Amino acid sequence: MKITVLGARGSMPAEGRDFLEYGGATSCVLVETDTEAIYLDAGSGIVHTPDIGDRNISVLLTHPHLDHLLGMPFFPYLSEKDRKVDLYARTIPGMTAGEQMDRLYSAPLWPVKMGEYASDLVYHDIAGGFDIGNVCVGIMDSVHPGGGLVYRLSCEGHSVVYATDYEYRDDSIGALIRFCEGCDLLFFDAQYTDEEAASRKGYGHSTAAQGLKVMAESGAGRICFVHHDPGHDDQMLRKMEEAVKSDSVSFARQGDVFSL
Ligand SMILES: [Zn+2]
Ligand SMILES: [Zn+2]
Repeated sequence: MKITVLGARGSMPAEGRDFLEYGGATSCVLVETDTEAIYLDAGSGIVHTPDIGDRNISVLLTHPHLDHLLGMPFFPYLSEKDRKVDLYARTIPGMTAGEQMDRLYSAPLWPVKMGEYASDLVYHDIAGGFDIGNVCVGIMDSVHPGGGLVYRLSCEGHSVVYATDYEYRDDSIGALIRFCEGCDLLFFDAQYTDEEAASRKGYGHSTAAQGLKVMAESGAGRICFVHHDPGHDDQMLRKMEEAVKSDSVSFARQGDVFSL
């Protein structure tokens, strides 16, 4: 698997000269195999996707918060005739995947519905784990306002876990540790510093220190922190990264590539 960070910012895009190193685009990670291009979330990072050739396209949403859907209208392949885009989301009470997208992308909030773009968009309502080509997709519940999903993608003996918009809580972290067990790469929400986290309980995000605990207890091979707070500029993120950095620990920079 080739894994590219297309957007690592959380909650809201960030822009300007103080946000160039880590990048300002919101949540999107691209996982490519020989035949598949799987986008984890469709934040503004998805707008600047690399060329994926003739791979099959799947978009897997963690949850329908704005920062995870923001890029969808300008996702280049959505507007390409003869392309099929499979979009996966979990049904939330009373709303299918399609209804969640239409809630945001319809008048008066947006002029064009998702189904009106040129590609063949097919919605899938997630009820459990599933396969995309030779990629096995596992899911578990996130700890986040309104809920969400954590994904584990496995292919040819390697796996990556995408755990963004996840709040570390002592009483539920065991489930995530088990879910991450032995994965090669873990993307983990480290939006807050320890001080910020103390005053933002219930907001649905975590810290780097908490991510390191998950890494240690699950045996994850590598951790990459994502969902950077829009108020944390490069200087701040460098400082946060310096405090934890090692060969297997980093804060995501837009454009980072990992090979598993
Ligand atoms: Zn988010
Ligand atoms: Zn969220």
